[in-house]
Amino acid sequence: MSEHFSVERGLFDDVMVPNYAPSAVIPVRGQGSRVWDQQDKEYIDFAGGIAVSALGHCHPALVGALKEQGEKIWHLSNVQTNEPALRLAKKLVDNTFAEKVYFCNSGAESNEAALKLARRWALDVHGEDKSQIIAFKQGFHGRTFFTVTVGGQAAYSDGFGPKPGDIDHAEYNNLDSLKALISDKTCAVMIEPLQGEGGIVSPTDEFIKGVRTLCDQHNALLIFDEVQTGVGRLGELYAYMDLGVTPDILTSAKGLGGGFPIGAMLTTTEIAKHLKIGTHGSTYGGNPLACAVAEAVLNTVNTPEVLAGIKTKAKLYVDGLNSINAKYNVFSEIRGKGLLIGAVLNEKYQGQAKNFLNAAMDEGVMVLVAGASIVRFAPSLVISDEDITLGLARFEKAIANLV
Ligand SMILES: *Cc1c(COP(=O)(O)O)cnc(C)c1O
Repeated sequence: MSEHFSVERGLFDDVMVPNYAPSAVIPVRGQGSRVWDQQDKEYIDFAGGIAVSALGHCHPALVGALKEQGEKIWHLSNVQTNEPALRLAKKLVDNTFAEKVYFCNSGAESNEAALKLARRWALDVHGEDKSQIIAFKQGFHGRTFFTVTVGGQAAYSDGFGPKPGDIDHAEYNNLDSLKALISDKTCAVMIEPLQGEGGIVSPTDEFIKGVRTLCDQHNALLIFDEVQTGVGRLGELYAYMDLGVTPDILTSAKGLGGGFPIGAMLTTTEIAKHLKIGTHGSTYGGNPLACAVAEAVLNTVNTPEVLAGIKTKAKLYVDGLNSINAKYNVFSEIRGKGLLIGAVLNEKYQGQAKNFLNAAMDEGVMVLVAGASIVRFAPSLVISDEDITLGLARFEKAIANLV
């Protein structure tokens, strides 16, 4: 018999490593864009985990896929392949620039695979001098030691001893700063096609096309980190599709599993061939459960109705936030794309994004921050208009309490 005892937030401090500071409430169940905590208080979910729950909580198509696969087979080693992984890979290949897919379990792992592939490609094709990796300040690529070093915030990579080498950082939306660093020794440029953690920063058209051109001029691979922007988040299946720029390698995670852990690295056959047998791997990567759920996510998101809905829902948010701002004057800008939206706090409220998040929780709406001064919204891509309206009304109340 299993032992059951009541758990509460205080236990976190007793038994968990102190690298997080979770809020006072513990959510216990969710349905669509609503979540309930231990006291049965209801929240409208404008956070989606952190841009993960692309179809809200317990979407019937995802629950169905998980249950069905859960009664067939859960795990195989990579000594065998499996049907859900093959089906998912085929769908990703059919719907993107990519010809080959590698599966893993998270965003960081998909970026780790992309970076290792780029280094191996450069070594095989161009020799050992071509190892420089360029990424961007304020960028975020995950928490493994390689990806956190490639990420553009030293605060996250300092304090762990010697870092992986030959990694440089240019400024986002500043082509000259990339020009100053890039050369024939550059192996790859890794970039988010909209900086998420770094503050919901869109690339200018000139910049993102210029990055592609510079990569081409110097035979460097262009890696798009679409861990946050992918799977419909910005209104297209992947963000690159709306930018007129195609990367050589693309990474996907977060929304891909809709809450079930999975990551994927997508690339061309020509580049993929350098990850020869034995060069990289993952015990759980491509496991049947994750792939079955991700297939259901793709089937649901990649339809004209859902993708068009993202754009109309985004307008509801932006209009709603603007009208809140007209009353309370708290934001200097509402920015972002699709359902990845940043409300930038104005001068008076600098550094207070966390207070807005906490006040919103009190009123029954979950939001995110992106840095200290931006409130971020990354709701379900199929959130109902009623839930948007109700959640924004609660958010307005929260602001009224604060100002
Ligand atoms: C969240 C995120 C990651 C890291 O993903 P994990 O699943 O936490 O490893 C990497 N890149 C971007 C752009 C992200 O937003």
